[in-house]
Amino acid sequence: MQKYNEINQIDNTKRYLIDYANMKCGLIKYQSDFLDEKNLEAFYKRPEFGFPLILPEGIACFDYKKNKNKFSVNKNRFREKIFFIRKKKYKPLLNFFNYGNNFCTGPVPKKKFNKLIKKINEENIKLKNLILKLKKKNKIIGAFQTRNIPHKGHEKIIQLLLKYCDIVIVNPVIGPKKRGDVKPEILKKIYNFLIRKYYGKNVIYRPVYANMHYAGPREAIHHALIRESLGFDYFVVGRDHAGSEDVYEFNAATKMVNKFKKNFSINIITHGGSFFCKTCNKIVIKNECNKFNCKLENISGSRFRKSILNKVYFEHARKNLQNFLRKFERNLFY
Ligand SMILES: [Zn+2]
Repeated sequence: MQKYNEINQIDNTKRYLIDYANMKCGLIKYQSDFLDEKNLEAFYKRPEFGFPLILPEGIACFDYKKNKNKFSVNKNRFREKIFFIRKKKYKPLLNFFNYGNNFCTGPVPKKKFNKLIKKINEENIKLKNLILKLKKKNKIIGAFQTRNIPHKGHEKIIQLLLKYCDIVIVNPVIGPKKRGDVKPEILKKIYNFLIRKYYGKNVIYRPVYANMHYAGPREAIHHALIRESLGFDYFVVGRDHAGSEDVYEFNAATKMVNKFKKNFSINIITHGGSFFCKTCNKIVIKNECNKFNCKLENISGSRFRKSILNKVYFEHARKNLQNFLRKFERNLFY
């Protein structure tokens, strides 16, 4: 249990160890090491490559003594070509350049971090092996990316995925902890409650250890490629996938993955989000209603969150799940 927590507790300074572990483990389709200037250039031109992993200078957990090949990155170009945004103060972008704009290739992690890298890889390989085992039984497996406590809108998407798959793996990307995130060990308990009560063997909770960059469309591709490497058959990309601060159009990610669909060997299902339809009086996926002029209401994640903290029931989540949440008091979030 302690070991499990150790990788759930990685802080931001160790994020590059996660990238390194992922690349060495074969999880990043177009990278086996941090990019140099030339290959970063290739990523600028090819959105279908996903999100580029590069190593800043001066990261304490890396040894920079040998083979250092330096280059600098133009922040504005990176913002436009990779993040696809205008906003210069987008927090995930600032976080990306937290250590400046000088990057390099060559350094390797310091020896004392080998154990942690091994642990990250072991967890991801265990997931890969689980998928392999299920596929040997001829099961079709889908991945559902999430980082939130599930309301009925999330459940609707799991149900959508279950129309294509025998088994859905609830597969949050877990990286460095961030204030306000649901604690991974708690998210696991919440999903296991839901699975026990309602889904049984068709749904499994298993995270993947990787970094989130909140880079919207490019990140959706990055996420899909990681799931492809893990062996999943299906991945679902929805409204505002992996964006933050409302910088992306709600359909930016789905448009992008649809454009490059032929580049993936994983099947990608895109949708316009789940809503509460006031006319039909049920939770629906956008455009699913067959009536005219349906009034769709957004299912607000932030209002759900407030309801949980204030111990009032949220109408679009299961009541007994909310009762279950109450026993964690205020320990749900970092
Ligand atoms: Zn409707």
